[in-house]
Amino acid sequence: MFGIETIQELYACVKLYFWSPRVTDTNSNKNFCYIQLEKVSRSFSTVIQQLPKELQDPICIYYLVLRALDTIEDDPKLEIEKKSPILLSFYKEIEKSQTLENFGASKHQDLMKNFDRVEEVYLSLSQKYRGIIKKSTEDMGKGMNKYLGKELDTIKEYDEYCYYVAGLVGEGLTEMFKKSGIMKDLNIDNKLSISMGLFLQKTNIIRDFLEDCEEDRVFWPKEIWGKYVKKVEDLKDPKYRKEAVQCLNEMVMNALTHIPDAIEYLNRLYPKKSTQQEFGIFAFCAVPQVMAIATLAVCYNNPKVFERGSVKIRKGVAARLFVETSSVKQVKRIFNFYLKDIKDQMNVETLKDVESHSKKVDFYMETTEQKDKYSVGTSIKKVFTMAFVFAFSSVAFYYRKEISEKYKKLTSK
Ligand code: MG
Repeated sequence: MFGIETIQELYACVKLYFWSPRVTDTNSNKNFCYIQLEKVSRSFSTVIQQLPKELQDPICIYYLVLRALDTIEDDPKLEIEKKSPILLSFYKEIEKSQTLENFGASKHQDLMKNFDRVEEVYLSLSQKYRGIIKKSTEDMGKGMNKYLGKELDTIKEYDEYCYYVAGLVGEGLTEMFKKSGIMKDLNIDNKLSISMGLFLQKTNIIRDFLEDCEEDRVFWPKEIWGKYVKKVEDLKDPKYRKEAVQCLNEMVMNALTHIPDAIEYLNRLYPKKSTQQEFGIFAFCAVPQVMAIATLAVCYNNPKVFERGSVKIRKGVAARLFVETSSVKQVKRIFNFYLKDIKDQMNVETLKDVESHSKKVDFYMETTEQKDKYSVGTSIKKVFTMAFVFAFSSVAFYYRKEISEKYKKLTSK
């Protein structure tokens, strides 16, 4: 029912609806940015509200600037020769306050047309944040240019591409947390920050295979899909559904390798005695990670990834993950729950080399094991059925005399 199946999910949806504060600002350009953020990414717009005030604007702008860059990268109308110089110089353009009218498909039209408004807010940010945004934009543009129109052959290239479009954002965000003064002594090496980004990016690449493929973009590396089919388009062909699903499962296994780093990152980010502001940063980082593992569990062994209709986690599940991600322990519980879900579907039919993969998943499960487990929750249907049975029997009990007399009359006739 409306993507909500359990009492816990219903509770989370209600809580989320009333609780989530809207970021409002009298400055209309800023307002425009937050409205755009909500349009472009609902989930990101929700998690950003958890952040301490100091970081909300810089991270909102960080996201929108990179989204605009990505829109240029993805623009199907723009030829490579024209796209390349734009990607390479975009980091300089963000300071010039101009619109990007002619770029991008209809999806992000509004953002691109009014990009000068994002730039206005960018220019009002403190220099310490602008520096990070500018550097990331420059590096990401270079990386996107490197892979423009190029297929990803090896897993190494796949990792490198994901680094350019997501890993370096992990680094940038960690830098922002430190520079905000809220987490001055944060001791996190780049490898952990990068894994946070890669885990999210790989999840999107796995989930969006069909959508990307139909727009002529393939991000799955040949080193993996080449083991299953001759041409990557064959993955869409129902004839090769079994191979496609095995390939999908291997892609999921590849994404799972970032779990230990992601957990370690969150551990260092949120030690036991933390302030409210530090919690805000932790929740901002942790929620997308748990959403990603839930998404991977839905994708694993799911032929729908190759068919029409996108594969998504249910609304109720997403709301629960948002509301219930309150500590590193809880993150571990959630990871453990979805890893078990994946493990339960692993066998020789669904995965090549199942033995070695299975050992890895066991290891991730051990590192996230907690005494008390995360659970699916109580089914709303069950509760309603029980309530109905209870109400019916109460009524029957109340009118028992009348009923038995009527019954006697009927049988005596
Ligand atoms: Mg892109």
